[in-house]
Amino acid sequence: MTLLKIAQVGHPILRQHAQELSPEELGSAATQGFIDDLIETMRDARGAGLAAPQVHRSVRICVLEVQDNPRYPYKPNIPLTVLVNPTLTPVGEETFLNFEGCLSVPDLRGVVRRHAEVHVSALDRHGAALDFVARGITAGTYQHECDHLDGALFLDRVEDPSTFCTWKEFARHHEPSFRESVAATVARWGS
Ligand code: ZN
Repeated sequence: MTLLKIAQVGHPILRQHAQELSPEELGSAATQGFIDDLIETMRDARGAGLAAPQVHRSVRICVLEVQDNPRYPYKPNIPLTVLVNPTLTPVGEETFLNFEGCLSVPDLRGVVRRHAEVHVSALDRHGAALDFVARGITAGTYQHECDHLDGALFLDRVEDPSTFCTWKEFARHHEPSFRESVAATVARWGS
């Protein structure tokens, strides 16, 4: 497996609408090897997720995994999940505010509004249908990763630019209150 280079904000590939994969493309050895590399790169960078455009491949694949992540210590765990050609549909009207960061946006975080429940429809890496509802903080992670497939970054969704902060200032000034809001979201939605 190979660690892939992560595109940084300003690289045009992060702003492209990524292409769907055909069953043949998904089943190819090249794509399967790429998915392994995407997972390894996400784990190496300690991301909660990683989308193919972030490693300079404009295809509709993203991976998510949270296992006691030191970069996001408050995030509920998510088992390793590979989404191919995903579609997210909000369930209900409820939203919550999430302090997000991104491996493609160095040393910056900001507050983003996310749907509290989303229906996830996708293929797994073997082409089998996935169909489930993600809730709470976990739903926010799904929305962040799928945004990348449409050329969107969390920066675009920050409603109040005064919430932008570096990771150091986040830890110093915002993390305690944000942990309280995360705890409330997890209590409400179970994840
Ligand atoms: Zn990101």
